[in-house]
Amino acid sequence: MIGPPGSGKTMLAKRMPTILPDLNPGESIETTRIYSTVGRLKPGQPLLATRPFRAPHHTISNAGLVGGGSVPGPGEISLAHNGVLFLDELPEFNRQTLEVLRQPLEDGTVTISRALSSTTFPANFMLIAALNPCPCGYRGDPRRNCHCTPPQIERYMSKISGPLIDRIDIHIEVPSVPFRDLSGGKPGTSSAEMREQVMSARRIQSTRFAGSRTRHNADMTHRQTRQFCRLDDEGRNLLKASMTELGLSARAHDKILRTARTIADQEASDAIEPMHLNEAVNYRMLDRDLWT
Ligand SMILES: [Zn+2]
Repeated sequence: MIGPPGSGKTMLAKRMPTILPDLNPGESIETTRIYSTVGRLKPGQPLLATRPFRAPHHTISNAGLVGGGSVPGPGEISLAHNGVLFLDELPEFNRQTLEVLRQPLEDGTVTISRALSSTTFPANFMLIAALNPCPCGYRGDPRRNCHCTPPQIERYMSKISGPLIDRIDIHIEVPSVPFRDLSGGKPGTSSAEMREQVMSARRIQSTRFAGSRTRHNADMTHRQTRQFCRLDDEGRNLLKASMTELGLSARAHDKILRTARTIADQEASDAIEPMHLNEAVNYRMLDRDLWT
């Protein structure tokens, strides 16, 4: 999420677990086990029922984030297992700390190697990151003037690496509140209604992936993406044009297809229509050269 301070990015992230299905019994046991290892279960709490939400500060160490120590213990990414990891002010995190997120984002686990042994912890989390649109934060905000220069903005954005951005499915702009009010948007959907939409899209996905290890559209293999995200001629041309225009990677290409599949599922549409595809392309904001 890219937006100025006070635009509600943190609030949106915190609400994410409220629109997700409750932990199923297996997930609950996995996550509870991690909390129990580090003594974080509240007294009298046998099993965690709600998805965890973790929001470590940007000064966190590598070990604190991904796990470590002389007797390797789980870090924040494992405490966020089956839940949400929120990194506010993403460019302020140590770049090397962010790089180590890449492997867990791909595999859903993290392996901590020591001279004599290595330990693997589960770390299958939804990453949500927030950043300001420029160093002062007010670029494009009607409330305040921004005097950040293009090189300053470029330096700020370059603190987060392309490969990490590539691994994030959806990039959205969160405008400042007065701007949203002025644009007179439609009345919001409640968390309960959104949760219903999520659940119905999940039901379609569990039927689609019955008998395979994949559970969600986001986890589709390249082969499954080809099988379940077929496009008609119009869609194919649209995607091809966006790829060229935005200079998207092959990874981004598949992410767009998987996101479009989810948008279509939310509308209970078997086919991915051009409008679903367009919406998914619009969620690749950071791939565009908007920052210089
Ligand atoms: Zn600025």
